[in-house]
Amino acid sequence: MTPVEGKKVVAKSVHITPKCVLCNQNILEARDHLFWTCTFAKRFWRGILPRIVNLPITDSIKRVWVLRRNSLQDNHRVYWDTLWAGAVWALWRERNRRIFAQERKELQHLITETNLQINVWYSIL
Ligand SMILES: [Zn+2]
Repeated sequence: MTPVEGKKVVAKSVHITPKCVLCNQNILEARDHLFWTCTFAKRFWRGILPRIVNLPITDSIKRVWVLRRNSLQDNHRVYWDTLWAGAVWALWRERNRRIFAQERKELQHLITETNLQINVWYSIL
């Protein structure tokens, strides 16, 4: 099988629905939607970052992360990076849970669990 044929097989075997499993809107899943602009993700971030009110308004999660990170002193960047990784990882796991296990966690439970996980990760760094 040539690489081109392999890509065709993969493309045909992947089931893509134009619907976000987090917000149930008919929106093609993309990085910035899933992790930032999705209504579920926005409510999630408000629970993770309740004290940060001045996050830049942008459609790019990468840009938000970089802008905020660049405004921090070195000693705060490790926590910011840990928080960001933990939050994105939690959203990705929730997305996969809903697609592959047909299960879901309630938003507040996910926020509480993620905050605990972030604090555990940060405490061992
Ligand atoms: Zn969504």
